Amino acid sequence: MKKIFFITIQGIVQGVGFRPFINKLAIKHKIKGIVYNKTGSVIIESSSSIKKLKPFIEDIKSNKPPSCIIEKITLKQIKSKKIFKNFSIVKSKKANEMKFIPPDLKICNDCLKELFDQKDKRYLYPFINCTNCGPRFTIIKNTPYDRKNTTMDKFIMCSSCNKEYNDIKSRRYHAEPNACSLCGPELILQKNNGTIIDCDDVISETKNLLKQGKIIAIKGIGGFHIAALATDDNAVLTLKKRKKRTKKPFAVMSDTIEKVKKYAYVSEYEEILLNSIPAPIVLLKKKNNNLLSKYIAEGLSTVGVFLPYSPLHFLLFDEDIPALIMTSANLSEEPIQYKNEEAFLYLKDIVDFFLFHNRDINIPADDSVIKPFNNSFVFIRRSRGYVPLPIKLNVKSKDIIGVGALLRNTICILKDNYAIPSQHIGDLENEKAFEYFKETIENFMKFYEVNPKAIVCDLHPDYLSTRFAIEFAKEKNIKFFQVQHHYAHFLSCLVDNNLHGQAIGVIFDGTGYGIDGNIWGGEFLVGDEKIFKRVAHFKNIKLPGGDLASKETFRCSISLLSEFLSEEEIKKIYPDKNVNLILTLIKKSINTPLSSSVGRIFDAVSSLLNICDLSTYDAEAPMRLEAIAHIYNDKENYEIYPYKFIKINNSFEIDIIPMIKKILEKRQDEPPEFISYSFHMTLAEIICKTVNLIYKDYKIKNVILSGGVFQNTILLKKTTELLKNNGFNVLFHKNVSPNDSGISLGQVFFASKKI
Ligand code: ZN
Ligand code: ZN
Ligand code: FE
Repeated sequence: MKKIFFITIQGIVQGVGFRPFINKLAIKHKIKGIVYNKTGSVIIESSSSIKKLKPFIEDIKSNKPPSCIIEKITLKQIKSKKIFKNFSIVKSKKANEMKFIPPDLKICNDCLKELFDQKDKRYLYPFINCTNCGPRFTIIKNTPYDRKNTTMDKFIMCSSCNKEYNDIKSRRYHAEPNACSLCGPELILQKNNGTIIDCDDVISETKNLLKQGKIIAIKGIGGFHIAALATDDNAVLTLKKRKKRTKKPFAVMSDTIEKVKKYAYVSEYEEILLNSIPAPIVLLKKKNNNLLSKYIAEGLSTVGVFLPYSPLHFLLFDEDIPALIMTSANLSEEPIQYKNEEAFLYLKDIVDFFLFHNRDINIPADDSVIKPFNNSFVFIRRSRGYVPLPIKLNVKSKDIIGVGALLRNTICILKDNYAIPSQHIGDLENEKAFEYFKETIENFMKFYEVNPKAIVCDLHPDYLSTRFAIEFAKEKNIKFFQVQHHYAHFLSCLVDNNLHGQAIGVIFDGTGYGIDGNIWGGEFLVGDEKIFKRVAHFKNIKLPGGDLASKETFRCSISLLSEFLSEEEIKKIYPDKNVNLILTLIKKSINTPLSSSVGRIFDAVSSLLNICDLSTYDAEAPMRLEAIAHIYNDKENYEIYPYKFIKINNSFEIDIIPMIKKILEKRQDEPPEFISYSFHMTLAEIICKTVNLIYKDYKIKNVILSGGVFQNTILLKKTTELLKNNGFNVLFHKNVSPNDSGISLGQVFFASKKI
């Protein structure tokens, strides 16, 4: 019998214009055959010779659509009676394979050209898109990714759009959100009292309002932004006052790199990041001028900047608008607003106007935030543009759900050999975030046809995610696992590097429930994918007031000072604080948990140096301590402060009281910037010394760095450098964040080894 070739292409190949691309290429190479989607993959069947197919496949690899990710191409020969006379796209076939959903895609250059082409039918149409660009994940209601399964189902295409949609030669062939001004979504400008603004040109009107200093909620791709002129102190201050968010920094959007370069330093690599398809917020070093309002990123050396990614964003700018604040529209730590009616109720006291549109967002997703580091970057928030890209594991697993921790929660599902972490959900302390959390689990189960055999959560008994997991396991009668917080960080970094076997883990963060019931956060672990041991940690600090100590950072400082100073002496350092009360809490052990957290050490030093006594948002004090150290970055001029190792049974404790004594002395006559830098360098040295001590006993060369503290790139850089110089193999995160949003990935990995 005759034979034909069967080419399977796996990866993110659906919803990214892949089949029309293959069709075009096949015509160019004179290939005969068919192409179709088969659940997660694209299949090409061809009767052409291998001589013709090889360059064709090479061409696929090197010229694939920008947003498509090819994971694997396999070629095999099968017996078949089929005869192909030409090349064509045929209907999708169903199969029991993993279905992938593409992330939302930034507007492509072709659409951008049409957007500003007066002769084009979509001239200035804010919802222009094609097979290469547009919303994806945020409009999906079910899989497979087809118009009827998206929130575009309510718009009936006009005949011209319909023609494009069905024309295989069109770049809108099966562009699911395809639309034009005749048939698609539209904008509505409304005052915060509900009055609709009746005008010819909603966009021009919006721009005018922004230029007048008005604050406007603008519905985007993954939710609402709050927009205001970033150069207008009054507008920024008004927004701050209304949002009651105090010093939390705002992200800023400009429409060109040239504009960005006026207020921030942009390296070649950072420019690539800004221009990348996920269009993340990139933390850039601020320039020392007053172009942007000084209230945008108070006390920080960086500003979060992004470029427009939806057509609407591009339309919001002109030469009189250098930069706009575009901050996620939410109240305090609640999830982002994404539904018109709800957003109106929630935001009407914060904004002056609303720019709504009627394309529904089904899955909210915040903008992603990344911090450049050594020609790579650290995820601060992995969300819109990256989610739901899968992370491939080496082994297949039964379906598992990981529910994450508490702050910066994400969930993660594991199916076959793919882990899919969810978008940023938020802090599970509030009711709204918990609702959003449950919805996300439901959606992910539906989209990926998850039939969970296990659910896994943190060790903390009181987290809402833990309670949810217990209930869920009972209800579904499936296995239930708990993973210690820092071990989950460890595992998350292990999978992120596709590593198997033993490693030393340096896990530093703010807080996590330890197996001894204390709060951990300055941990040195030795472990593999099945088991771990705590081999060293920072000596416990008493935290008078418990959780309050991470906000009122002077509590940490006073606690450390009380180890070697009298009440009178402490009062001289903190004359305006209730030292007596704090010392009483400590003495009587009232609401004073013990913690080995490095986050709290940062808090204490930040307070001691008068940088930040009160964190008005999560991790403000450590971030500002890092910010001031930046002027010394990469300099070899620093001091190493003293510290002590205490050996207890088979593990070490690190005592930093000698360092605190030294800092107290130095702060009289040395600038806080220098002390902060020296503090960072000392911590890096402590890590390296401790890892060397552990190596003596365990002979392990792989060192994992994880936990939120390693978002601090001064510490990360020096630590990496010292460990490498000492012959260690340093492993850091690539696909997920070192902070608690990476926990759910570690959790599912753990369960996959136990189930
Ligand atoms: Zn496009
Ligand atoms: Zn149309
Ligand atoms: Fe953590």
